[in-house]
Amino acid sequence: MKVKKYRCQKCGASNTQKCSIAYQQGVSTGFRGETSISGIARLAAPPTAPAPSRFKFILAICLLAVPILLLIAVVLFMLEGISVAPAVPLLISGYLFYLLVRSMGRRTHIAALKKEYEQDLDLYQRLWICRDCGHIYEVVESN
Ligand SMILES: [Zn+2]
Repeated sequence: MKVKKYRCQKCGASNTQKCSIAYQQGVSTGFRGETSISGIARLAAPPTAPAPSRFKFILAICLLAVPILLLIAVVLFMLEGISVAPAVPLLISGYLFYLLVRSMGRRTHIAALKKEYEQDLDLYQRLWICRDCGHIYEVVESN
């Protein structure tokens, strides 16, 4: 193994480590389940995954709730005619539909973020950190 290429490119120290390993070693879980992260691990932390899309969840709620809400609106309309009461379930249905359309737009955005995250994760596998100066650099394997 050629050690030289793993030397810090900034200060020349050989006290370097792969970021993923430095992170794993610096993260510990206490008795009460609390997580503590060392300074080096904080620097060497992996990229964070984007929050998952809530589209399917909201779609499921719409499919379950909207028919019931519409039924309630019809019943209230038959009981009270045009008034505030039947308008309430209609407004809730409209709001659910608005949430559905909004999450549909976000779904495309989240898909792009996921792709970006996978590329970041791929790069992360090649990153090394200097434990002396904290410099992070890419090591390209050339075997
Ligand atoms: Zn260094």
